[in-house]
Amino acid sequence: MPNDNMFDFLPERFKKTVHYVAAAIIKRGNKYLVIERATPPYGYAFVTGHQERRESIEDTLKRETEEEVGLIIKDKHCIFLFRRKLENSRCYKEHPSDLHRIVAFLCEVEEGEPVRKPDEVKKILWLTKEQIESLKNQGKLENTWERLYSSLEEKLFKKE
Ligand SMILES: [Zn+2]
Repeated sequence: MPNDNMFDFLPERFKKTVHYVAAAIIKRGNKYLVIERATPPYGYAFVTGHQERRESIEDTLKRETEEEVGLIIKDKHCIFLFRRKLENSRCYKEHPSDLHRIVAFLCEVEEGEPVRKPDEVKKILWLTKEQIESLKNQGKLENTWERLYSSLEEKLFKKE
């Protein structure tokens, strides 16, 4: 982005921008849709993606779910909001001052079976919360989700 340099004179705190990210926690029966990412940051994760310009966060959720796993979703409930720097993310390497606001939604499948987008998703799995916990304990969750795990546990798994 050629225009980035024009703000170089500003103190760091004025340069940061906030990236909005939608996360889909897709539930079917007692299982959740987990992907193994084919691109960095590697690991197991829920479907997530950045909000684009002129897009509502719910539209981001819908678009990313269709793009990454080919599913139409319904019954979306926002379950938590999380704000942090995402070290190890692609964005962080390019703009270390940026913050992410992650808006996680619990949703169900409207129709269809998941179909992965091969260049982004290596594997699609339906896992129970115990299986997700086991991935976490083995250090196999993608960095972001490892950090968000306590929110997931508190907002979602404890209510089951
Ligand atoms: Zn970002």
